[in-house]
Amino acid sequence: MPDLHYDTLLVRREGLTRDLPPGDNEDLRWVTNSSTLIFGDQDAVLVDTFTTIEQNERLIAWVKDHDRRLTHIYLTHGHGDHVYGIGQLLEAFPDARALATAGTLAEASLQTEDDYRVGFWGRLFPGQIPDPVLPELLDGHHFSLEGHDLRVVEAGHTDTQGTTALSVPAIRLLVSGDVVYNNTHMYLAETTRETRTEWISALRTLEALEPAHVIAGHKDPDRDDDPRNITESIQYLTDFNDAERTTTTPLELYETMLGLHPRRANPGSLWGAAKLIKGTP
Ligand SMILES: [Zn+2]
Repeated sequence: MPDLHYDTLLVRREGLTRDLPPGDNEDLRWVTNSSTLIFGDQDAVLVDTFTTIEQNERLIAWVKDHDRRLTHIYLTHGHGDHVYGIGQLLEAFPDARALATAGTLAEASLQTEDDYRVGFWGRLFPGQIPDPVLPELLDGHHFSLEGHDLRVVEAGHTDTQGTTALSVPAIRLLVSGDVVYNNTHMYLAETTRETRTEWISALRTLEALEPAHVIAGHKDPDRDDDPRNITESIQYLTDFNDAERTTTTPLELYETMLGLHPRRANPGSLWGAAKLIKGTP
């Protein structure tokens, strides 16, 4: 069997929560999205797409540069910033199939409705969100690339409902979607203390796979894909659960977490969660 390789494209965009308290983190108010191409001699599989029309055009050009036949686009979860590029990608690569689990499909169905796509994402990125296309339901939890097994790992409710990661045992690669974050504030606005505890269990399941490379859906471009990103994500959630217990106002929760994690990208995500969980000040 031919060897497999992978390559990751990162794009940077503005965060979703933009009314942050004043502070010395102006230089961190952005977030990246990652898309990973796994490829053999002839074929390739892409994991996740991007938010805006322009970002997805860049993704298409980057995939074409790899000069492989794109067979599948796998979507790790249903959030718009990962699934909105499906239509553009399928148009550019008509032989490819976009695949997702039932959990991803359920969330993607919500995110492609006008309420959400136009009312939420469209307001934050006016005129930039592509037309909605849903993936097909993946039958089972495996598919293959040039004879190598690609395994879907169900992670349950992490930063949203029904999330997954994609494991490529042949090269000890884990494309984690938003189950793991790389030096970026984790998106907790859809979580409760109970789901954050489930999220920690999902991270331990990923840790037990002993991957050598872990590619987070949101990644600090200056950091590598070391599996310690799993441990750091567990620490972040543990710290948040503690801080949520010991603080009262959104600002207290936000500042307590920033004290522990001052240099993660996208503090707006933390502020958004703090306001939701503690009530808007
Ligand atoms: Zn995301």
